[in-house]
Amino acid sequence: MNLTRITDSNLIANTETLAREERGLLTKVLHHLREIERRRLYSSLGYKSLFDFATRKLGYSEDQAYRRIAAMRLLSELPEVEASVQSGALSLSHISVAYQHFQRERKHGGQALSAEAKASVLEKIANRPIREAEQITLSLSTAPVTLSPDQIKIVADDRVEFRFQANSRVRGKVEHLKGLLAHKHPSLTLGELFEILCEIGIKQFNPATPWTSRKRRVIKISKAQMRRAVFKRAGNQCERCGSTYALEVDHIKPQAKGGATTLENLRVLCRSCNQRHAISELGLEKWINI
Ligand SMILES: [Zn+2]
Repeated sequence: MNLTRITDSNLIANTETLAREERGLLTKVLHHLREIERRRLYSSLGYKSLFDFATRKLGYSEDQAYRRIAAMRLLSELPEVEASVQSGALSLSHISVAYQHFQRERKHGGQALSAEAKASVLEKIANRPIREAEQITLSLSTAPVTLSPDQIKIVADDRVEFRFQANSRVRGKVEHLKGLLAHKHPSLTLGELFEILCEIGIKQFNPATPWTSRKRRVIKISKAQMRRAVFKRAGNQCERCGSTYALEVDHIKPQAKGGATTLENLRVLCRSCNQRHAISELGLEKWINI
């Protein structure tokens, strides 16, 4: 499929149509899963459960299978969910957040929430960012939010599983840090991030580490200072879209066009906005060939 000649507006319009069709396809998949479960077909095919069938036969990841089955269950109970999935108001992530809440409530309260109560929760989280949806369900929860003790479990020869709970502030910091590291380490897992932090901590706090290597190495002071000043002025966020992910210092007038490295000509952009800017300044073909 060659999309390089398509206009910007057609590209956007087509993608919107495809996303709508994709959501339609998703509800069809849910209906099929439901009928397979009703017939217990997976069992006669030798699968232990619908989940087993969805992962091994259909090739979904465990997470994908879990979300689809949760959505399918909810759809059977609340047929109106279909319209919300169709319109995009409820994504699979929303549904899995709600589903986990319903299960927690049932476990804690000893009985399932009524269909009306469930519908009202779904209505409250529809169209909200996922993190907000999680907070909403947490605030509606009657089950006490217990902080479980840390757990470290050996899962294979050279693998351990860490399990701990933290507050949303920590989550925000983790995301901030991932954004800062995005250039050097794209798609960093939590485990890899944890290892990097441990290395920094060991170096920092180990009394055996020579003092000189504990200090931050400062290369090209003037450039670093300028960079800091630009970030400070921008409030540590993209000056176009406000994102804090993968921030870069951008030359407003590109260096390729003789733009200077001065405070006035510098600004902070996220990687996407920076790339978009480069494309509009230099043209797509040229940008790709850089
Ligand atoms: Zn941006």
